[in-house]
Amino acid sequence: MKKSSGNFVKTISCPVCDNPNINYFIKKNDYSFDKCNECDFIFLNPMPNQTVLNKIYTDEDTKTTDGYKKASSRLRRAFLKLPRFLPYVLNKNSLDFGCGGGFVAYAISFVSKSSTGIDINEKAVIYAKKRFNRVNFFCKNFSDLLKSQEKYDFVHSSEVIEHVSDINLYMQVLKQLVKKKGYLYITTPDLGHPKVPEDITKWDVLCPPIHVQHFTKKTVSVLFKKYGFNIIKFYKNRKPGLIFLSQKS
Ligand SMILES: [Zn+2]
Repeated sequence: MKKSSGNFVKTISCPVCDNPNINYFIKKNDYSFDKCNECDFIFLNPMPNQTVLNKIYTDEDTKTTDGYKKASSRLRRAFLKLPRFLPYVLNKNSLDFGCGGGFVAYAISFVSKSSTGIDINEKAVIYAKKRFNRVNFFCKNFSDLLKSQEKYDFVHSSEVIEHVSDINLYMQVLKQLVKKKGYLYITTPDLGHPKVPEDITKWDVLCPPIHVQHFTKKTVSVLFKKYGFNIIKFYKNRKPGLIFLSQKS
């Protein structure tokens, strides 16, 4: 159940597993997190709406449409990651959802049948279009995408899920975008990782309202199952990040 007041939404049950067993967890930067005792989901409650959040990060990586923060290292890392994606993108239709400057979509375009990048940040999309003309880039929001009939064999969405105001809307969009039996590759900070500081407020990744929610393996297992995705594997990571591949049933 949700109660909306102005730019914030207060919930009395867990947005992931719908259980009312939620408690106050921690405060940082004057934002208050709750934790679900059933699925470990940690989320801002009240939650700022998407309009508020969009204003905060539109200018984070793109000062202008001609430059992109850490562009050369992002491009190098995209090509280094390509072998991991290869079995799922070779001669397939691929989408990077939350593509930023388009680096991953560009690397994938050399092996896929088609490569698309979508981002809500207009400046990022303009930059990506200018730089990588072999990729299809679009600036679209969640409601545009829910109406879309376009479906992909592989969807990559890296470091997006921790930013979205309405986690269930984001999941509906992913469900809409991935073909039946298609693959979904997600990365997000891992709150259950041994390297997370004991005093979690000292962890720089806990930075509301940039990141509005956090997950463990348990949380994402519950959440992705709810939307018809079976997690096939969690990739090993020495850093506190969840990296996992799921398949739509
Ligand atoms: Zn829960």
